[in-house]
Amino acid sequence: MSDHPTHWPRAIALVDMNAFFASVEQRDFPSLLGQPIAVTNGLRGSCVITSSYEARAQGVRTGMRLKQARQLCPSLIQRASRPEVYAGISTRIMQAIHTVCPDMEVFSVDEAFIDITPCQQLYGSPIEAARLIKQSVYRASGLLCSIGISGDKTTAKYAAKLNKPDGFTVIPPWESRERLRHVAVTELCGIGEKTGLFLAKHGVRYCGDMEKLPISVLARRFGNPGRRIWYMCQGEDPEPLHTEVTAPKSIGHGKVMAPNTRSRQTILTYLQHMCSKVGARLRRHDFEAHTFWFGLRTEQQWLGEKVRLPEFSSDHRLIYQYCQQKLNHIWKGQGIWQIQITALDPRPAAMQMDMFASNPEQLTHDKQLNSAMDDINQRYGEFTLSPARLLNRSDMPNVIAPSWKPAGHRKTI
Ligand SMILES: [Mg+2]
Repeated sequence: MSDHPTHWPRAIALVDMNAFFASVEQRDFPSLLGQPIAVTNGLRGSCVITSSYEARAQGVRTGMRLKQARQLCPSLIQRASRPEVYAGISTRIMQAIHTVCPDMEVFSVDEAFIDITPCQQLYGSPIEAARLIKQSVYRASGLLCSIGISGDKTTAKYAAKLNKPDGFTVIPPWESRERLRHVAVTELCGIGEKTGLFLAKHGVRYCGDMEKLPISVLARRFGNPGRRIWYMCQGEDPEPLHTEVTAPKSIGHGKVMAPNTRSRQTILTYLQHMCSKVGARLRRHDFEAHTFWFGLRTEQQWLGEKVRLPEFSSDHRLIYQYCQQKLNHIWKGQGIWQIQITALDPRPAAMQMDMFASNPEQLTHDKQLNSAMDDINQRYGEFTLSPARLLNRSDMPNVIAPSWKPAGHRKTI
C-alpha cells in the first residue's frame, strides 16, 4: 500500500467488534473457543441475541428462535447473556480507542466511528493510526474487531463489514466512488427497504446509478437526509461524527406549569407529555430504563416517588401507564407548579434488544411504532430539544464522553 499518500483530506474509521457478546463468552470460558454458541436472555430466553462465528457458519442468525437454531446446529451451546460484563468491556474498548484518537462517536455497544483526520500525522498515516486502534482494542479487551477506513462514515462502515472477523479494510477516499459503484444501495448503512424502493423506482439499484439521478429528486422526497443519500452513494458522505453528547447518566424532562394547577386532567396531560419526551429521548440515545422518578412541585416542595416498570423500556406508553398509577399516591389535590419525569437507571438498549423480552413480537412492534414516530418528530423538528437539565449532569468520565448512539441514521435516514 505504498502508493497511498500519507495525508488524507478526511479519514474516518469504523470499528466493529466481531460477534461481540459471543466473543466475550469465548474469551471468558476458553472451553467455548471454537464452539458454536448462542447467547440468549438467561437460559429461558428463546431467541438468539448473538452467536459465535462457528454457529453462524451453520446458519444461526441473530433474532432466530433458539429452537430453529438448534435444528440447524444441533451442537449449539446456549449461554445466558451477561449484560453488565458486556457493558464494562464496551466501556474499556471505547476508552482505549479514545486514547489513540479522541474524536469518536460511539455508534452502538460494539461499534464506534473515529475521525482519524486530526491525528493521522501523529501516527504517520491514517492506516497506521487505524492499526494502532485495532491493537489498542485488542489490548484492552482481548477481543478482535473489524475495522474499515475510508474518507467518510458510510464508506468506512461498508468497508468494515467486507472482511470479518478480524478485518482491516482500507478504501482510500479517492477510490470510494469506484468501490461503491456496483454495491446495492441498500447495502449502505442508513438506506432501508423503503428508501431502497423509492430509489429503485427511479432506476437506482446500485450506488453507481446515483450519478444519473438529480440530487433534487431526493431532496424533494427526503429533504436534507435525501441529499445526504445522494452523496453517500458516491463515496462522499458529508455527515460529521456526533461527538458532542455526553453519555447520559439520567435522562429527564420537566416543565413549569401554570402556578397552582389543581386540575387532575391538566396534570395528566403534562404527565403524558413528559413521558413522551423522556421515552423519545431514551430512544434517541438508544437507551432504556427500569426506574423513573416522577415528581410534582408544590409552591414549597417536591412530592415524588420512584416508579418501577416491569422491565427495562423506552416505551412512553408504558412509562405513562405506570406513572399514572402513582399519581394518587403522590398527589392529594395540592396546587402544582412543576412536573418532572426522570429515568434513573438508563443503559444502552443494545444490551437488551428485542429478544430479551418475554414477548418479543409485541415489543418489536412497539419499537417499530416508536421509531416511526421518532422519525416523524425528527423530520418536523418537534423534538429539536435543548438538552434536559439533568442530561449534562453526568458523572461519566470525559474519556467516554461521546454519545452512545445518536439518533437518526442507524437503520433509517
Ligand atoms: Mg459487531
